[in-house]
Formats: sequence, structure tokens, C-alpha cells
Amino acid sequence: MPRHLDSSVSKSRWIILPLVAVFLVVIGLGVWWFTVASTTSAGTNTPSSPLASAGDTASPSMPAAQKTSTATTAPPSATPTPTPKPVINPQTGRVDTLDGLVPDYVLPPIENGMVPVLTKIPTEQKVVFLTIDDGAVKRDSDLALLEQHGIKASLFLANTFIANDPGFYKKYTAAGHLIENHTMSHDLGFLKLGYAAQKAEICGMADFEEAQYGRRPVFFRPPGGPYSQTTRKAAADCGLKAIVDWETKANAGGMDYQVGATLRPGDIVLMHFRPEFPADLNAFMAAQKAAGLKVVLLEDYLATK
Ligand SMILES: [Zn+2]
Repeated sequence: MPRHLDSSVSKSRWIILPLVAVFLVVIGLGVWWFTVASTTSAGTNTPSSPLASAGDTASPSMPAAQKTSTATTAPPSATPTPTPKPVINPQTGRVDTLDGLVPDYVLPPIENGMVPVLTKIPTEQKVVFLTIDDGAVKRDSDLALLEQHGIKASLFLANTFIANDPGFYKKYTAAGHLIENHTMSHDLGFLKLGYAAQKAEICGMADFEEAQYGRRPVFFRPPGGPYSQTTRKAAADCGLKAIVDWETKANAGGMDYQVGATLRPGDIVLMHFRPEFPADLNAFMAAQKAAGLKVVLLEDYLATK
């Protein structure tokens, strides 16, 4: 009996064992295939990401985009700070005094070899222009007053008044004021001079100022103001763009008007570097505020370098 049983048991064992072995092999193959498949798929991903980091724009662009978005979200909190950053006017190469104002007047060109003459800017825009002449009295306190009130001016300097200390006016140019041409000798008989002599007075000062201050003047003011066709031609031949005179003065602590009794939009105001500079500046500022005008550099308004 046991032998029969034994033999039947051993018979079934011989059948089951191979089946189990086959089953185990199949399982093993399945596991192997799964691990190989998963490692190869992982393997193709892993090397592809460094390779694709440069070229692949599809999926790696996700983290890239996240990076840039975090990069752009960080600066916005810092962008309010650059707001006071000065804006350079591409036409003049300077930070201008216009504060976004768009001038409604364009400087006329040189015609027939002669510069135009300005005594006032024909505009209704609420602007006024301050010009300060000669340069005889040189005081840091006068520059400080202008700075204190945020006023920039065009300085018509004559060589005879500044030759003893031309470097002094570099303080003005450093502060944003511009230096223009008022001849070499400030000869009040300038109109009697011939073309060659006028040209020598104007070109000489233009060369001097360019060498001293690094900018060639663009405007000319004759000594005392009067000019002729000869003057307009000589100024043009020295590379200047306009003769600038005035219809209003700040003088002896008050205002002198050639027209009317108040400052008008577009007025060009004449002042001097004189002992009474503070009183003249006060008179100018009182008139300017009463008229509601903004002090702007003439060079900025006319978009000249
Ligand atoms: Zn003068």
C-alpha cells in the first residue's frame, strides 16, 4: 500500500515540480523583463534630459519657464526702485528739464547762411527760459541758490569776464547748466566790426568753450544784444544755431518787461552774474511763480545738443 501510495505521490511530485519550475521561470522572466523595460525607459529619460537641456524646448521649458517666471517676479518688487532713474533724451544726449513735456515749437533752420534770431519762443506752453550773462561775479552761493530752487539756466559767457578763472564754471556744467557764446572781448561796439572781426570774436569763444567745457555752444548772444545780417552769417559760419536775445530782464532786484507787465509763456529772461544776483533771482522766481510757468532749459526745449 504505502509503496503504491508512495509511487503515486512520487509520480505526482515529478509532474508538479517541473510545472513549478516552469512557473518560476515564467515569473522570473516577467520580473526581468519588467525591470529591464523600466530601467531602459528611465535610462532614455535620464540621458535625454541633459542632452535636451539645450535643445529640448518642450518639456524642459517647464522648469525653465518657472525659473524665468520666478526671475521676473523677483525684480518687479525691485522695479519701483529704478523709477527715479534719469531718462536721457536721445536728441540731446542729456537728461532734460522737460519732465515729459513735448515742445510745440521747432527751431528754424539756417537760411541763406544766416542763423535765426529768437527773442521769445512763440508758444502757449507754460514754460520760461532763464539766461545769465557775462560771468564777471563768480560765487558758489549763486550756484547754490539755483540748485536749491531746481533752476537750470543757459549761461552766455564772454571770455574777457571768465579768463581769470574759466574753471569756475565747470561747477555749473557739472550741475547741468549749459554754457553758450557771448564773444571773446564783449565789445559793445560789436556791430561796427566787419564780418571777419565778428567771426573771430564768435568762433574764438566757441573754440575756447568747447576746449574748456567739452561742449561746443549752440547759441550766440551779441554784447548788448544788437545784431546784423553780418552777425547772423558769422554765427552760422562758427557752427552756431541761433542768436538768442530777450524781451524780459531780471535787473536791480526787479523785472523789466519790454512787452506787458508779467512773464508770458515762452519768455526768454536775461540776468547777469552781478552782485545783486540773489535779488534778481528772487524777482525772477516771484514772476515765474505768479505766471505759473516752469523753468526749462532753452536747449532742451529746442532739442539742441
Ligand atoms: Zn553781456
